[in-house]
Amino acid sequence: MRVVVTGGAGFLGSHLSAALLRRGDQVVCLDNFSTGRPENVEPFLANPGFTLIETDVTESFDVAGRVDAVAHLASPASPPDYHRMPLETLAVGSRGTENALRLAARDRARFVLASTSEVYGDPIVHPQREEYWGNVNPVGPRSVYDEAKRYAEAVSMAYRRSYDLNVGIVRIFNTYGPRMRPQDGRVVTSFITQALVGDPLTIYGDGSQTRSFCYVDDLIAGIVAMIDSSVSGPVNIGNPVEWTVGQLAEVVLTLTGSTSTIEYHPLPTDDPTRRRPDIGLAGQLLGWAPKVPVEEGLRRTIDWFRSRPDDVLAAAPS
Ligand code: NAD
Ligand code: UDP
Repeated sequence: MRVVVTGGAGFLGSHLSAALLRRGDQVVCLDNFSTGRPENVEPFLANPGFTLIETDVTESFDVAGRVDAVAHLASPASPPDYHRMPLETLAVGSRGTENALRLAARDRARFVLASTSEVYGDPIVHPQREEYWGNVNPVGPRSVYDEAKRYAEAVSMAYRRSYDLNVGIVRIFNTYGPRMRPQDGRVVTSFITQALVGDPLTIYGDGSQTRSFCYVDDLIAGIVAMIDSSVSGPVNIGNPVEWTVGQLAEVVLTLTGSTSTIEYHPLPTDDPTRRRPDIGLAGQLLGWAPKVPVEEGLRRTIDWFRSRPDDVLAAAPS
């Protein structure tokens, strides 16, 4: 298969590209490096099956030659990133998604949208099943991301209905692992880098809010299964093991052996209080379930950050 991966130089996009190349697919990576890093794709450049096109997918772009699938991952994903780039986030969710859909429609290719658990907002229904419509503040600071993804889902389904395009939507829940930027501001990277340099772990709010953390290899297996299927979804992909943020801080301190203290900061506006995927549909339609226990995934992630001390130190404020 020849697969276009938008956002292929990002955290998930680079892991997806690696998985596709490993099984012999060709990958065309489209990325503007706004939050992605050249070093994420550097190992693939020598592979004749890999093509890198530096481009902003909100502008018009062309991919020469037939394409069998388009995996649309381009979008800032970390809250500090999308707060820093609110209009770019809306643009890539809307115009960027439309451009990626147009490319898929050109070749009648499979199209997979990387959507998010954020479409559920601050959920009233728990755990979240795909038929839940969500509780999103359309004008709050997170709306640039949440509503962009909700629009991306809507326009993808419109392409399916209007043009019979083979569209599938995955709703990704919090995912972590090697190749995250140490300074991306997400909770797993913040806690690990803080613990490794001995800075206080910054818990927002009282730490009672929950998230369900999925290891990247599991997540990528789910996305690949979605690419290979003709399931429309949306399908939740995530690890249903639900932890409080306070619990995550304690586990990171234990696994790193750090003596860092814990510091409490105000909870950001509209921060969801709880989040856990119901993954019954992914099991039923894709035969998918996560395999890596959270402690094991965190251990692997910590080891990876430990092997890059300069990166970790550069991310620390002190
Ligand atoms: P990331 O920031 O590491 O990767 C995003 C990539 O998209 C980057 O390489 C960035 O440079 C690129 N990009 C952004 N705007 C672009 C544009 N206009 N044109 C071209 N490239 C552009 O984030 P990630 O964690 O790898 O997330 C990838 C996708 O998965 C995103 O769509 C995100 O919304 C979704 N997702 C991720 C998570 C998670 O926990 N990691 C959870 C839910 C959804
Ligand atoms: N969080 C925290 N400390 C940090 C970064 C994040 O307590 O240094 C909290 C954040 O408020 C949220 C949870 O951890 O409740 C997950 O945040 P993240 O940014 O990783 O993902 P998202 O909010 O998109 O789920």
